[in-house]
Amino acid sequence: MARSFDVIFIGAGPAGYVGAIRAAQNGLKVACIDSWKNRDGTNAFGGTCLNAGCIPSKALLESSELYHRAREEFAVHGIRVGEVGLDLAALQARKAKIVTGLTAGIKALFQANGVTGLPGRGRLLASGKVAYSPEGGTSEELEAREVVLASGSEPIPLSAAPFDGVAIVDSWGALDFEAVPKRLGVIGAGVIGLELGSVWRRLGSEVVLLEALPEFLPAVDTQVAKEALRHFARQGLDIRLGSLVTEAKVSGKKGPVLVRYRKGTGEETLEVDRLVVAVGRRPRSRDVLAEGTEVRLDARGFVEVDDRCRTSRAHVWAIGDLVRGPMLAHKGSEEGVMVADLIAGRNAEVNYATIPSVIYTAPEVAWVGKTEQALQKEGTPFKAGSFPFSANGRAKALEAAQGFVKILAHRETDEILGVHIVGPAASELVAEAVLAMEFQASAEDIALTVHAHPTLSEATHEAALAVDGRSLHAIQKKKAD
Ligand code: FAD
Ligand code: AMP
Repeated sequence: MARSFDVIFIGAGPAGYVGAIRAAQNGLKVACIDSWKNRDGTNAFGGTCLNAGCIPSKALLESSELYHRAREEFAVHGIRVGEVGLDLAALQARKAKIVTGLTAGIKALFQANGVTGLPGRGRLLASGKVAYSPEGGTSEELEAREVVLASGSEPIPLSAAPFDGVAIVDSWGALDFEAVPKRLGVIGAGVIGLELGSVWRRLGSEVVLLEALPEFLPAVDTQVAKEALRHFARQGLDIRLGSLVTEAKVSGKKGPVLVRYRKGTGEETLEVDRLVVAVGRRPRSRDVLAEGTEVRLDARGFVEVDDRCRTSRAHVWAIGDLVRGPMLAHKGSEEGVMVADLIAGRNAEVNYATIPSVIYTAPEVAWVGKTEQALQKEGTPFKAGSFPFSANGRAKALEAAQGFVKILAHRETDEILGVHIVGPAASELVAEAVLAMEFQASAEDIALTVHAHPTLSEATHEAALAVDGRSLHAIQKKKAD
């Protein structure tokens, strides 16, 4: 007889594994199938995020930042060290240990919560059952009352620069370099391109980012993007906007790579030792669906869902990178929790208006809500207040007094509509803004809230005061009424 579950999740990335745990906590009988395979052939839960995304990239960003600071900034603090050396193998081993620790943690969480973790491939069949093909084993059909598709996304290949896994790599490849490339090219100056470019720049590579669009980070508040670009350029990231890559040719087996790109009316070339293609990600929707499932996809291959992640087929849900919305781990996890609760008969929703975004560069960039350009475009009346970290004592003590906090609030109601941060620990600071927006707080609410001194969060406090021209530690043109 077929094994039977209340819910089967296909995919154990941050969307699927979190949803599976919540469903089990809700008293449901849950299985979670995942086909992730590490380079050594072993299976691991955690998806892109834990194995080849959020976690390894942040591990490398931290190590490379420390290396950079030890070389360039310790002297400013009056700390004298000998020659600072780099042991890339040790640095990569630390990263790998963090990843395996966390993926093993998911296994333990599955066991503790009674989730049946199934390594191998899952596929929704037209019958509504799930075909499960374990690695090297015999396929079986599993029965489930509800099926949640959470198969995530994969890097978009560029036909002009096909991956060869050695000289031309995707983001996963760029996290695993065994030597620091002397010259590194990155196609795409989006979030992933910038983070990877920063890692290798700090470790010593000459980094050129080729970006097709004429504008830098168009989804980010224009003022923030401009400030970030200034700092990145100062760090030596050579960001070439309006540069469309048309061809990349590898010489020999290992490179170098000759990249051709169009800039304006001219054609330019660039020679690099390694090339990272980071031009975005696409949903992995095809191989998770058999013929005739009646689960509709949109033109770009995302599974079509409503605001509660219900697909076009009853009892089939889809979450995470596989569906519309920002491709972010925390967005997928919240969708997993929502779906697990809805299946258990609880009321649940995701507030898509308050999902924070972060770029983990130095300075970090983080934001929630609407940008100034979006508010202008939709004609919403707003007021803005900002505060520079150059006037924040803690940022000065940290030797990181770059960037600012900017708060946008409704002109009449004072409700916070967006918060945009470029500066130290922006990824942590944005949490206060998310909470404030979740509670529909006004700028005055933050202004009236006591913030510890000296902290970076005082910049958020001051930006909220600045919304009404009442900043205390910066001279404002706009005076309080
Ligand atoms: P995934 O994490 O992609 O997981 C899907 C899982 O499903 C995978 O394990 C896959 O193998 C499995 N699968 C696919 N098809 C099948 C099948 N047929 N059967 C069984 N299993 C299947 N996001 C952030 O929020 N913060 C960050 O700092 C961040 N940094 C990133 C850095 C990099 C370099 C990259 C590439 C991404 C980063 N992201 C970050 C994005 C984040 O990784 C994704 O948004 C997140 O992993 C999406 O979660 P998911 O569960 O939808 O899919
Ligand atoms: P993201 O979607 O944030 O991962 O960013 C990917 C970036 O790659 C986008 O800003 C695209 O404009 C850029 N891009 C896509 N194709 C090319 C190309 N052929 N040459 C240069 N940049 C590209």
